[in-house]
Amino acid sequence: MDWNTLAEIDRRHIWHPYATIPNRLPVYPVARAQGCTLELADGRRLIDGMSSWWAALHGYNHPRLNRAAAAQLENMSHVMFGGLTHEPAVRLTQALLDILPAPLNRVFYTDSGSVAVEVAMKMALQYQRAVGQPESRCRFAAVRAGYHGDTWHAMSVCGPETGIHSLFAAGLPLQYFLPQPASPFHGEWQPESIAPLADLLAQKHHEIAGLILEPIVQGAGGMYFYHPEYLRRARELCDHYGVALIFDEIATGFGRSGKMFALEHAGVVPDIITLGKGLTGGYLTLAAAVCHERIAQAIDESDHPWLMHGPTFMANPLACAVAAESLAMLRESPWQERVAQIESMMRDGLAAAAGWRCVREVRVLGAIGVLEMHAPVPTATLQPRLVDKGVWVRPFGNMVYLMPPFVISADELQFLVRQTLAAVAEEYGEEWTPAA
Ligand SMILES: *Cc1c(COP(=O)(O)O)cnc(C)c1O
Repeated sequence: MDWNTLAEIDRRHIWHPYATIPNRLPVYPVARAQGCTLELADGRRLIDGMSSWWAALHGYNHPRLNRAAAAQLENMSHVMFGGLTHEPAVRLTQALLDILPAPLNRVFYTDSGSVAVEVAMKMALQYQRAVGQPESRCRFAAVRAGYHGDTWHAMSVCGPETGIHSLFAAGLPLQYFLPQPASPFHGEWQPESIAPLADLLAQKHHEIAGLILEPIVQGAGGMYFYHPEYLRRARELCDHYGVALIFDEIATGFGRSGKMFALEHAGVVPDIITLGKGLTGGYLTLAAAVCHERIAQAIDESDHPWLMHGPTFMANPLACAVAAESLAMLRESPWQERVAQIESMMRDGLAAAAGWRCVREVRVLGAIGVLEMHAPVPTATLQPRLVDKGVWVRPFGNMVYLMPPFVISADELQFLVRQTLAAVAEEYGEEWTPAA
């Protein structure tokens, strides 16, 4: 089938993320991807600035991950996890235990990040029942501009304003929302930043089963980096009031913020952590909710020791085999240096845009570089400019942001930053000539 025909079927019949049918915006057919390059069907090559939404840590089409997938296919692609187990799941679990804080060692595998968040919330609820809390202790506290996924309860804890979910507000369970942590990562800690959480828990702790937040980096809700002290104080408050603390590291896990897990910036161990996105190196869909042994023990000792969830594709062997290999590759690689180098190159490169009228703030943490604009980005016109300049960068909201695969070369990264700035400058009519 020729690409024009394919594109037309796509446009009329397939929904893309947060899109219309027929699609009002173009989608670009990708024929193949290799390393940090996406090759479009028309032969154009784009340097990848997205890692396919935090996932493709090692770039695309990696021989080691390909081999791991092929080897597992020869054994089995999938078997049910009810009553059966397999080596890929156990190997992956051991690999996770090796890198997570020690008490986080009870693992539940799901097929997507949103479902991992659902499971994490169930764990918190079952834990509260297990320790004798009444059923009315069933609500969650969350942070404005947070993002936790698109399924129902995950959606209910997404920031209500920045979220794409306000449409459903009337049907969603009501949760308690805290202001975005006011102290930024690179600034001074302002003690009053924690006051809203302290006040909320003081007043409502008997209703609140858990506090869920993305540690350090708020991702899809605004690409905002906040102060580690917030997490230390949150831990103390949750301990004091018996609230389960859930860290959603689906985006930040596996090195993206410069630490293996963002929680390491604060030295805080949550009660439950969710993982996903980069878990399989971007190959297959797999996620996990991992809880503190104390949470699992409490549930196990209760009248209802069963954790009530069990997806069809739970712990899919193919995904687990690739994930175990991806984690091994990550740990064998000099990822800290790579991420630090990406960070310093993006900080230098993106600084050029700091004075532009269209730019509100430039910020960089780990392998995440953000241009926050004053207003929503005109994706319909900016996206084709970025593609014309040979880069794959997908703006959202007020943000043009870069999070390349960790294996990006210095030349590729320089190209990515320069061409992104060139496209933005052109779009907004900024006078800018890149340094030679
Ligand atoms: C992407 C994301 C999710 C949802 O994961 P899916 O696999 O898309 O369902 C949840 N939490 C955070 C922090 C995310 O970035």
